[in-house]
Amino acid sequence: MQHFPVFLDLAGQRVVLSGGGDAALAKLRLLMKTGAALEVYSPDPAPEIAGWAAEGRLSLHRRRLAPGDVSGARLFYAADEDDAEDARSAACARAEGALVNVVDNLAASQFITPAIVDRDPVTVAICTEGAAPVLARAIKADLEAKLSPVLGHLARIGKAFRDRAERLAPGRPRRDFWSDWYFRAGPCALAAGADGETALTALLDTHLGHATRPGHVALVGAGPGDPDLLTLKARKALHEADVVIHDRLVAPEILELARREARIVAAGKEGFGPAWAQEDINALMVAEARAGAQVVRLKSGDPGIFGRLDDEAEALDAAGIGWSIVPGITAASAAVAGLGQSLTRRGRNADLRLLTGHDVKGFAEQDWRALARPGAVAAVYMGKRAARFLQGRLLMHGADPATPVTVVENASRPEARNLATTLAALPADLAAAALDGPAVILLGLAPRRAGTPALPAREEALS
Ligand code: SAH
Repeated sequence: MQHFPVFLDLAGQRVVLSGGGDAALAKLRLLMKTGAALEVYSPDPAPEIAGWAAEGRLSLHRRRLAPGDVSGARLFYAADEDDAEDARSAACARAEGALVNVVDNLAASQFITPAIVDRDPVTVAICTEGAAPVLARAIKADLEAKLSPVLGHLARIGKAFRDRAERLAPGRPRRDFWSDWYFRAGPCALAAGADGETALTALLDTHLGHATRPGHVALVGAGPGDPDLLTLKARKALHEADVVIHDRLVAPEILELARREARIVAAGKEGFGPAWAQEDINALMVAEARAGAQVVRLKSGDPGIFGRLDDEAEALDAAGIGWSIVPGITAASAAVAGLGQSLTRRGRNADLRLLTGHDVKGFAEQDWRALARPGAVAAVYMGKRAARFLQGRLLMHGADPATPVTVVENASRPEARNLATTLAALPADLAAAALDGPAVILLGLAPRRAGTPALPAREEALS
């Protein structure tokens, strides 16, 4: 971060600009939103600039900038769009102690003007240090679409109201009140033409009358790893959580989406890793929710698929704590998407099985006869260690040794890999590949295309 973002108070401060064309117009439109005392030097200013001068919004000097003109100014813009003139005026300004920006010349500038999303008093500044103006524009367009046009209005009303909102207890009650104002009640009230202050007063009365929100646990699916595969509901739950209790497989990028003040607790257990006892996880959820916290129990994929969801729901019920489920994208869906395949296909398989490689008793028994039929498709979770057992059972029940099998490791993540093999070669290929990430074994499916990089050892199997 070579350019450090700050927000400068320009009220009553001198800001000088040299130039009178398009570049000057663009900068002046922005600067006029501040309370700066603006001075423009241009022998030949655009009519708009002359108009603004006539309205008293800036002072216009119809001549070139001369030494002494910039003294005492905070900022100076060289906006003549002429290299020689910009260099001359910038040198004057620098000698007189102002911070200098030469429009469209990063190297000659001491500060840069970011792309701005203006919901005054809420201002978002975007800077790429000149690396990618296209990216800055795209981010700006994205934020313009996302942030309500009345956000600034809501914030202005809210700012004047902060003292009165202190009647609410700090922490969650106050946060709930403001979140209600900015994202629910406020926009609705303004859209209905209500007076802002009256609406805010009524909202405060409602919140003062309410007991604080009771503790709650959301059992949330974090998806297979790619943060873009989170549901909007999961994001919202993370954003509102006081405590996030997550499994080992949940990607750090997803945890970053939690509220800054949220407590993040890593509660082990996936596959054969070191585990928290299920009772300890249950006890923690219950204790936090009893203390009034909004708890997010974050599980990889979909919480309802090999996620011990029922154990947790029952413990919460037994403790009388409210809970809800936010579904997620399961590993099999992400894995098959990476192969360019579908999990069910007319004429091939009319059912689909999601299996676990092992259960509490060891390797899990399944309906092997059904799985051994031609065209059968199954996704095996936690199956790496059970590969030889799976292969043995399937062959014993008559499965074709040439049945395609694809192992997808780290589905949806940047480091995703596919191992395309057959039932006959599965255990040997799996051992040779030494996968160390989470992997799902797709029985009965070959990659349609290399959606993710194939393992070098099996490249010939893909072609
Ligand atoms: N609830 C999860 C599954 C939890 S069991 C879901 O719906 O996806 C843990 C197993 O899920 C892992 O052993 C592995 O088989 C699979 N898994 C989870 N994330 C994965 C990923 N990104 N790629 C491949 N397999 C994954």
